[in-house]
Amino acid sequence: MRARIALAAAAVLALAGCTEPAAPTTAPIPARQTEAPPAQPKAPDCDATASLRPAGALPAPGRMPAGSYMAEIQKTGRLILGTSQDSPLFSSRDPFTGRVEGFDIDMGRLVAKAIFGDASKLQIKVIPHADRTKQFDDEGDKVDLVINTMTANCTRWQEVDFSTVYLETGQRLLVRKDSEIDGLDDLADQRVCAAVGSTSFTNIQKAGADAVARNGWGECLVAFQQNEVVAISTDDTILAGLAEQDPFAKVVGPRFTEEPYAIAISKEHPDFTRFVNAVLEQSRRDGSWKDAYDKWLGALGPAPQPPAARYR
Ligand code: GLU
Repeated sequence: MRARIALAAAAVLALAGCTEPAAPTTAPIPARQTEAPPAQPKAPDCDATASLRPAGALPAPGRMPAGSYMAEIQKTGRLILGTSQDSPLFSSRDPFTGRVEGFDIDMGRLVAKAIFGDASKLQIKVIPHADRTKQFDDEGDKVDLVINTMTANCTRWQEVDFSTVYLETGQRLLVRKDSEIDGLDDLADQRVCAAVGSTSFTNIQKAGADAVARNGWGECLVAFQQNEVVAISTDDTILAGLAEQDPFAKVVGPRFTEEPYAIAISKEHPDFTRFVNAVLEQSRRDGSWKDAYDKWLGALGPAPQPPAARYR
């Protein structure tokens, strides 16, 4: 059973890097050893969860103000969303439809609907997890926004702007059901997987674990199922999705960090950040945030209040 789950996860991983569904494959994927990221210089202090205030009421869909970045997007006919395809519940490829779906995708659909009046005008671009803040640099192949279980923090604010917070989460541990590990204190020198470029990786390194980096949460699940690591550590919302895929796994310990998720946008388009914040305000008011929560994260319990917007 475990081998089958690992194979299914590996098949999903084979699609990594594609924007379109590729032909299904059952060939096992050789394990890729990922270099641990270099230590980040300490970022200056900032108010990481405070974003740019909306400029006023949202313009009518299909009538974006002349000269705005939203008008440019409207002209191209699609909103390009950078995300992963192996973060269950948030952005993962449905093996039956070939589509990437989840809570993060639904946040992107709300923005597409506000621009075009049509939520389906969203194009998914699968991006490398370690380069989530670098997706706005390359004019040829850029994304309009990144929505990818991404914590707003001061290091990242140096490279991108963030929207207001759309989900509050925190880091925990996923271990085997028969494991005695039940918290951070048990991690010393234990091999624990986290995605390269994630805050989770840095946090478990700080906790004294032997942190093992992989290119995303699907690869961590494969490493876990092949007994290369004793645990996976990341936001409990992501762990809940991984646990759903592995009947031999459980999520343990209290949250030991705060991980406020926000949408990353190029610093060159503050008008778009303000627009996205107006869309998020609307989704908190009109129930669409709650609908997305109930649809994807309902198994975690009743929907909490959406995070209140904070502005700088
Ligand atoms: N929220 C954390 C981060 O942005 C961990 C989850 C992830 O990397 O997808 O780094």
